[in-house]
Amino acid sequence: MARLHPEIYFFGGNVAEGRSSMRDLLGGKGANLAEMASLKLPVPPGFTISTQVCTYFYQHGSTYPKGLTQGVAKSIARMEKLLGRKFGDRKNPLLVSVRSGARVSMPGMMDTVLNLGLTDETISGLEAVSQNPRFAWDSYRRFCQMYGDVVLKLKPENKTDPDPFEELIDRKKALKGVTQDLDLTVDDLKELVAEFRDLIRRRVGRDIPQDPQKQLWEAIGAVFGSWQNERAIAYRKFNKIPDEWGTAVTVQSMVFGNLGSDCATGVSFTRDPAIGEKGIYGEFLPNAQGEDVVAGIRTPRQISLAAGRKWAERHDISEKERAKLHPTLEEAFPSVYRELLKISARLEKHFRDMQDMEFTIERGRLFMLQTRTGKRTAAAAVKIAVDMVQERLLDKRQALMRVEPVQLEQLLHPQLDPKAKKQVIARGLPASPGAVTGEAVFSADEAVTVAGAGRPVILVRLETSPEDIHGMQVAEGILTARGGMTSHAAVVARGMGKCCVAGCGDLNIDYGSGAVSANGVVIHRGEYLTLDGTTGEVIAGRVATVEATMSPAFAKFMSWADAERRLGVRANADTPHDAKVARDFGAEGIGLCRTEHMFFEAKRIEAVRQMILAENAEQRALALDKIVPMQRGDFVGILKAMAGLPVTIRLLDPPLHEFLPKEEHEIRELAPKIGTTYEHLKKVCESLFEFNPMLGHRGCRLGISYPEIYKAQARAILEAAAELRSQGVEAMPEIMLPLIGDRKEFDTLAAEIREVGRTVLGNNGVRLDYTIGTMIEVPRACIVADQIAASAQFFSFGTNDLTQMTYGLSRDDSAKFLNAYVERGIYKKDPFQELDPDGVAGLMKIAIGLARKANKKLKIGICGEHGGDPASVKLCHRLGLDYVSCSPFRVPVARLAAAQAAIEERQKKREFKDV
Ligand code: PEP
Ligand code: MG
Repeated sequence: MARLHPEIYFFGGNVAEGRSSMRDLLGGKGANLAEMASLKLPVPPGFTISTQVCTYFYQHGSTYPKGLTQGVAKSIARMEKLLGRKFGDRKNPLLVSVRSGARVSMPGMMDTVLNLGLTDETISGLEAVSQNPRFAWDSYRRFCQMYGDVVLKLKPENKTDPDPFEELIDRKKALKGVTQDLDLTVDDLKELVAEFRDLIRRRVGRDIPQDPQKQLWEAIGAVFGSWQNERAIAYRKFNKIPDEWGTAVTVQSMVFGNLGSDCATGVSFTRDPAIGEKGIYGEFLPNAQGEDVVAGIRTPRQISLAAGRKWAERHDISEKERAKLHPTLEEAFPSVYRELLKISARLEKHFRDMQDMEFTIERGRLFMLQTRTGKRTAAAAVKIAVDMVQERLLDKRQALMRVEPVQLEQLLHPQLDPKAKKQVIARGLPASPGAVTGEAVFSADEAVTVAGAGRPVILVRLETSPEDIHGMQVAEGILTARGGMTSHAAVVARGMGKCCVAGCGDLNIDYGSGAVSANGVVIHRGEYLTLDGTTGEVIAGRVATVEATMSPAFAKFMSWADAERRLGVRANADTPHDAKVARDFGAEGIGLCRTEHMFFEAKRIEAVRQMILAENAEQRALALDKIVPMQRGDFVGILKAMAGLPVTIRLLDPPLHEFLPKEEHEIRELAPKIGTTYEHLKKVCESLFEFNPMLGHRGCRLGISYPEIYKAQARAILEAAAELRSQGVEAMPEIMLPLIGDRKEFDTLAAEIREVGRTVLGNNGVRLDYTIGTMIEVPRACIVADQIAASAQFFSFGTNDLTQMTYGLSRDDSAKFLNAYVERGIYKKDPFQELDPDGVAGLMKIAIGLARKANKKLKIGICGEHGGDPASVKLCHRLGLDYVSCSPFRVPVARLAAAQAAIEERQKKREFKDV
């Protein structure tokens, strides 16, 4: 049959003008309705108006393209012919639903009108045809309510007011002395319809149109208009959905699940979305319309008998009682159940993915109203991917592409119980995932005291610094008001595998009174806070969490990923414990061990401070003599935990003033403890002041001015490795210099380290292969990479600093304004979160090209925070790096992203060949 309009796609009666592949035009809902109709599944007929009409509507002052009115009229006529009913007919009226549907699901964000076509005339037809006046008037009541709300915009006057229609229903129930909607009689419903329309006339100044055509066009306009309602705009912004996409509108004939006890409506999945187990899973409500299931007015029932029995067990309901009061669809509608099973299997096989379906049973007949790819937990995603390979629905590569790498992090940390209620008071950056609950504390010392008393704490700070490490170590989670994704709090928390929400600008933190407030809610010291580090939510009070689980399916899935990937995956780890965790998660070595974190340990900070206060090299050497054995101990632990795998240890990086106190009273307290005067300590603190510490006396510049520091660290590393070697443990240290920008810097320091190496190894009489390499963190190092590579044995891109210096953007201060850049579309993503593919990666590309030419054996990796971000990992694959290094909990994420990058590359090559 000929198309009725280029922008209208009809479905039903063995016709389907659309396809599931046309989501961009038809929205997810319209595209899949068309697909189901083409599979000859029982879909009520209807048509979808494309998203292009939505774009036109906005560009042309809420008008429609030429011929659309006639196209809609002809489509309605086609529906009428198929169903033997007429739109607006007083004897046998056709009623329709008008639904929104974007290319990606935006649940509940846009509007829908049901039961459209009811008027004072057609209602009598519906009464007669259904022989059920109560049903007819209940439908009219629902229609007036939805039309008033969606089309005529009759909303509560204030945000805190109740819904005006619900208020009238409640008043009616109170007046009639009943509690359930179902107890309202036909007359009550008739009165309600009159009251609703009175209210609309009073508040809106006009009535619901009595012309079904007018209703239809007003509803279509309202649904297109709902693309730009506040909710939808906010949802798009949060989920990064482009405004230009627009929504489609689907007009579909109504089927009724509320005509009597042989009717029902429900939602079902082809597999359990929580755990991924195969088998139909879902809920239904007898004698109900779609929105009742969502509204939770009555307890829905289970679809399969097996699920029903499990449900009863969980609710302590006997089998006898369950069978009597809560029969499943399998028991109550056995033939519909069998048909639903068949359709589910067919749809899953067709789409090769788990489906989430909506259905209605009208007088014992099953109708499918929607199917889409089902949302699922990370655990379910992995299990379904693995099972579908065993069932030959997918091959291994397709299965690997089915799981979002970031989702895997969910599997390793506890999560908020999805069923729990929560009061979100603010949202910050999702800096380190997991969900935690604890008492709010405002200093590291307080955290130690409260945690020491056995109570969980959330450390709340404006920002953290290395001085807070002891508090961070004992805290369940960390919340900061300032700082971005590479701020101290974010980096350290990720390294520790601890939940962190950073840069939450809405917070007002008052250290003095010990309180944090946001959006009118105040949390005092000792009161409970909950953080969701996966979404960045800050929640008042306690929220239940659920534990992480690692299944056999996960191990199998990861082994497939490992077989595919070319990139190595290492971890950033500073302690033996973190190293062990990383190894358990599949790390193939350590790509960055930041030695400064070891300097902050309570026992050694004193020696570190003495080293800084030293007035000459001898005094400094004396202080370092105390530090070396302690550091050696650390390195023995880490090298042992990673035996047989490379461990990159970076020499001291931060400016020295970070190790000294800042506040006046702290300087006063510390001076006598370290055997000096207040004046001297104050003078040293002042002398170390820098206007711009990030570009100041840090990184290898420390090694140039104080060679003893780097030499001492090299000694500790090599002595530790030699000790292990002599015990037969395969220690593989790689010594890394930070912030190199010139070959001579590198050569000078490397020569000093080699000198130390000769002494240590000579003394111990062991053979040890160790390497010396550099971080590439300053743009100059990229441009002269060939010169540096001629000397270095490895490069590791420190993309935190490289991003900072390429953009000239402070990694500690930019969180305040970067959001505006992302919101206004100037930057697609925060460049500290996702590697900038043009600028920063452009420099990396130059560096890699130059370096590889100069030194064929050079090993190249990345150890900035980007090493655990899936899009950045994929970019690193394309750049031809040897490995990425990331925090231990992101190792599985990086392993999967690396596998996906390899698969995508192969697919591209194949496409290229096909052309
Ligand atoms: C970097 O700059 O990317 C890096 C890993 O070093 P840090 O974050 O310690 O400066
Ligand atoms: Mg750095």
